[in-house]
Amino acid sequence: MDARDNVAIVANDGGLPAGTVLPSGLVLVDKVPQGHKVALADLAAGDAVRRYNVVIGRAARPIPAGSWVHERLLEMPAARSLEGLPIATVKPPEPPPLEGHTFEGYRNADGSVGTRNILAITTTVQCVAGVLDFAVRRIKAELLPQYPHVDDVVGLEHTYGCGVAIDAVGAEIPQRTLRNISRNPNFGGEVMVVSLGCEKLQPERLLPPGTFPIVDEREPELDVVCLQDEAHVGFMSMIDSIMESAKAHLERLNRRHRETVPASALVVGVQCGGSDAFSGVTANPAVGFCTDLLVRAGATVMFSEVTEVRDGIAQLTARAATPGVARDMIAEMAWYDAYLDKGRVDRSANTTPGNKKGGLSNIVEKAMGSIVKSGTAPITGVLSPGQRLADRGIARGLVYAATPASDFICGTLQLAAGMNLHVFTTGRGTPYGLAAVPVIKVATRSDLARRWHDLMDVNAGRIADGGASIEDVGWELFRLMLDVASGRRKTWAEHWKLHNQLVLFNPAPVT
Ligand code: CA
Repeated sequence: MDARDNVAIVANDGGLPAGTVLPSGLVLVDKVPQGHKVALADLAAGDAVRRYNVVIGRAARPIPAGSWVHERLLEMPAARSLEGLPIATVKPPEPPPLEGHTFEGYRNADGSVGTRNILAITTTVQCVAGVLDFAVRRIKAELLPQYPHVDDVVGLEHTYGCGVAIDAVGAEIPQRTLRNISRNPNFGGEVMVVSLGCEKLQPERLLPPGTFPIVDEREPELDVVCLQDEAHVGFMSMIDSIMESAKAHLERLNRRHRETVPASALVVGVQCGGSDAFSGVTANPAVGFCTDLLVRAGATVMFSEVTEVRDGIAQLTARAATPGVARDMIAEMAWYDAYLDKGRVDRSANTTPGNKKGGLSNIVEKAMGSIVKSGTAPITGVLSPGQRLADRGIARGLVYAATPASDFICGTLQLAAGMNLHVFTTGRGTPYGLAAVPVIKVATRSDLARRWHDLMDVNAGRIADGGASIEDVGWELFRLMLDVASGRRKTWAEHWKLHNQLVLFNPAPVT
């Protein structure tokens, strides 16, 4: 990955046997699995092991050149202190704007643009989930066919709302997340709520007056179906109420049409999950190249996952556009360090058995591969978990949206931030999807893309095979984004209707 590295990874499918002679003349001492590291030089105990020109660990014992450098041979370095970081020191030359790229989207009253036209039904509490699920199935079967311009109906179900310390420190995170998800650009500003009645998170608390622009003065500002309402006699009366209420929203959504908008209206969330050693070699660099294209086109790109950038914080604070952005980023890292510390763990709790099987020895190595998704542009804004871009006055550019690395929690928080398109890279493979926003999945390895041919949208493994360059795959992804955003193409997750549940980040106590 860098000329100064003293390890490299085996790219070949199936790995390489002991005795293999590499083009450099180096002979493999051990059988090395695909994605795993080989020592390029003799390492003494305590020597720095470098990949991406970063110390990913120290040799736990002498490692001869040509050996398999597996995770047990590496001692992980301590996390970089948050003191004395470089602040906004990197000033890359301004790249030329990328003009002339458009997609077909749905314009919203608040200026945002949707990539899908979806009726979302917000819930205040988990108690109503079963009823709403029943109602949504009937709406899809009986109502949706009458509204051909509406793509889908989605129940925003979650586990929050009652049995929680609603005024605790940290409880604002799940609450603003739910509020902001209801305002996602793909929901067209329509709001409909199903509530139980006795829950802590009352509809007026979830969506206080002023949350939505008033569309029609004759309509009540908040359209709530309350299951405990005395008017409801029997289960079917609840279902009838929800279906009746849905009709009005479907009518309005059905009147919307796609129109040509500039690519700058894209708000893309990038994430990785089920990562392997190729994530940082193929898929994430291609995403990073595409991130730069999007930023040049005036779009917004969010990258996230605190524990996966913690070890690269010095690179990120250096790339901050202003000292204020760098300070905000450090504050998010410090908050998360303290959060992990309460559970007596640190960022190293991130890595999974699959990551290690895929060749990622520790979180430092994983982070170096993960951070590449952010490309090279200056970082122009920072979001705390559950915040919306508009809450921080962010209109465009590269944004660090602080979230846990958990795929579902990160996706849920990026939805709240206002994402209208999601890009997800994977090495081990995951069928991840979201109901509210199209998810483009990028495979890091050709072997995965071949086996999961009807789940992966882009094969970045061609970069390792020599079949395509990082730039080729980056442009392919950029063009695919415009097609998917326009509704001309569906992602595989959309095709199969695969989606994960919303998972809220609640760092506060439950009762
Ligand atoms: Ca993730």
